[in-house]
Amino acid sequence: MKRISLLGATGSIGVQTLDIIGANRDRFDLVACSAGRNIERVREIVRQFEPEIVSVIEKEQSEQLKEEFPNVSFVYGDEGLIEVAANSGADMLLNAVIGSVGLQPTLRAIEQEIPIAIANKETLVAAGHIVMREAKRRNVPILPVDSEHSALFQALNGEKRSAVSKLILTASGGSFRHLTREELQGVTVKEALAHPNWSMGNKLTIDSATMMNKGLEVIEAHHLFDMPFDQIECVLHKESIIHSVVEFEDTSMIAQMGSPDMRVPIQYALTYPDRIPMQRPKQLRLGELGQLHFAPMDYERFRALQLAFDAGRAGGTLPTVMNAANEQAVQLFMEEKIPFLQIDELVERTMDAHSNIQNPDLETILQIDRQTRTDVLNHVQ
Ligand code: MN
Repeated sequence: MKRISLLGATGSIGVQTLDIIGANRDRFDLVACSAGRNIERVREIVRQFEPEIVSVIEKEQSEQLKEEFPNVSFVYGDEGLIEVAANSGADMLLNAVIGSVGLQPTLRAIEQEIPIAIANKETLVAAGHIVMREAKRRNVPILPVDSEHSALFQALNGEKRSAVSKLILTASGGSFRHLTREELQGVTVKEALAHPNWSMGNKLTIDSATMMNKGLEVIEAHHLFDMPFDQIECVLHKESIIHSVVEFEDTSMIAQMGSPDMRVPIQYALTYPDRIPMQRPKQLRLGELGQLHFAPMDYERFRALQLAFDAGRAGGTLPTVMNAANEQAVQLFMEEKIPFLQIDELVERTMDAHSNIQNPDLETILQIDRQTRTDVLNHVQ
């Protein structure tokens, strides 16, 4: 029985993770989780999975739930996330929170030598050099959950890293892939949230529309697979069937493919190195599929992806700044306070104004993350 703690249980990845745990109760036990604002969903999770520790956002919510479920330990806030991540006695942490708020819980879990399945890409973008260094030092596995990185991880299975020439991340192009930059003026939040292939949380769907999601994933791949940015590429692939590709020095390419179903990479991270059958499988029928399409990435159209490569290559605190500025800008767009095209403009302006610091420690990263959000808000108001 593998004891799982889950950060972000009420989000899109969290819900699909619980689906897998629920379908394999003989294999997995949910011992702790954190939730967002959906308290009714928390009640359902507690009844169904009986976790020992549950973290919510507000103190009042935790007190109210404690009265309803006296046998469960309810915690809250940033400390609550750390409690779930590091103090639940889990055999694995699946980190599916959104944003750099997942950074400290991840580091605390690494200190406790808990293997981590990571869906929280912002953590690796904001402080990948620290997370990977600490994980390596304590020999803690960091397993990818993101579909592209799971694909790369699977394609690299049993291969010598020195034989890899390129990691190629596929990108669907998001909800606005048919529009030019001109045509992006005036697109609405609702339009941005309608992704053609994947069902994901709001932040991730907006990041897909700006292509910042692919940018975050490039930096994530750099850290997870210790690969220089010159050996990471992106290609447009509108069907989201090939989830990513590894090219080797003999020009062979190994790709991983399947229906766009996040449960597959989630389950693989939970069962690795084993594979188990999928409940309600969405099997791919190649004959019916017929064709797959690929096109070169357009770095001018998708400005945010170019910014991410720039930030990744510069290193230091610049990826932290890029990520924090993006998180804040996306929130402003969702609140309809800025137009869509201002998201990457704000990110670029904030990056340009930043004096980069190389090899930042955790304190510096956390401070710059906070400062950047304030700077972005000040630009707008
Ligand atoms: Mn992805």
